[in-house]
Amino acid sequence: MTIEYRAAVLHGVGAPMTVEPVVASGLGGSDVLVRIKAAGLCHTDLEVITGSLRYPLPIVLGHEAAGIVEELGPAAQGLSVGDHVVLSWNPHCGHCFYCERDLPILCETYLAHGPKAVAFDETSRTRLRDGREVKQLMFLGAFAEYAIVANHQAIVVPKELPFDRACLIGCGVMTGVGAALNIARIGFGDTVMVIGCGAVGLAAVQGARLAGAGEIIAVDLDPAKLALAERVGATSSVDARRADPIAVAKAKTGGRGADVVLEAAGSPASFRASLEAVRAGGEVIWLGKTDVAQDVAFRWGSLMGEKRIRRSSYGGARPARDFPLLARAYLDGTLKLDELISRHIALDEINDGFAALQRGETIRSVVVF
Ligand SMILES: [Zn+2]
Ligand SMILES: [Zn+2]
Repeated sequence: MTIEYRAAVLHGVGAPMTVEPVVASGLGGSDVLVRIKAAGLCHTDLEVITGSLRYPLPIVLGHEAAGIVEELGPAAQGLSVGDHVVLSWNPHCGHCFYCERDLPILCETYLAHGPKAVAFDETSRTRLRDGREVKQLMFLGAFAEYAIVANHQAIVVPKELPFDRACLIGCGVMTGVGAALNIARIGFGDTVMVIGCGAVGLAAVQGARLAGAGEIIAVDLDPAKLALAERVGATSSVDARRADPIAVAKAKTGGRGADVVLEAAGSPASFRASLEAVRAGGEVIWLGKTDVAQDVAFRWGSLMGEKRIRRSSYGGARPARDFPLLARAYLDGTLKLDELISRHIALDEINDGFAALQRGETIRSVVVF
């Protein structure tokens, strides 16, 4: 098998991506060729473009995608040509120290190969026309008409799920909903605060609702994002430029603070606020990211009271279990995905799409093919 297709290639940090032909030849044993139908623009891609996350170049970004299975390697199992799939960015070996402890997000083979942006066999599946290897971000590289992925990265979802909604499940929705359902210990009737209402935060609001939270307080600096949060399940919202979220959390809980705080803004100020806003014995989950070299300061006293702090990067994802559940929740009307899509764009408009994300104008732009 040799196939040539269009991909958005990043050749230099800060440079615009160029849409150009790339070539893939040969499917490895358990590889799957997926025709990409929709791919969301996520902040992690933007961090690679701006250089705050450093990856080898040239590279094809895009790690939140859905498509159709086009061809299977000889050892690929559990899939059929024509299946509709949502792609996971967390392939794992299944037998290392962490996989044995049911922590695929820490899989040693995954962590060793992720920063090199190559598959587990140390190669990339795609090349430029001049023969140079092109890397695939997070084992995907989905800003392209096709992607070659490992068998278990492709999760079958119902065909009635539209691709532009489906793709969101692969990163932002899994991360936010999963943090609330799989990681946090949210009790029925609990007061949950969600700081930051981008795609992950809006998904976390919904996860809190699905987990049975009583009060869900959304916090952001953008009134439009707060309005969206209320549409998807927040019971109240705080514009942090006008009111102090910590004071609000305490006022709504008899002075104690929220039972659970889900932080999805990724700034030192919001990490600090999350610890101040949670009650003694409560739980803080950090989903947001700041530069890896950035120091984050806390008031020591805010750590008192047996508080639990947990960092989560993919919502405790078990894609084979969780993606079909999330797909079904959308089709049943209990999970809102339409509200997260700000724009549909063509692959050729991808640089404009990232500029809009950087300006904070969009929740999700989705490239449709
Ligand atoms: Zn992402
Ligand atoms: Zn492993």
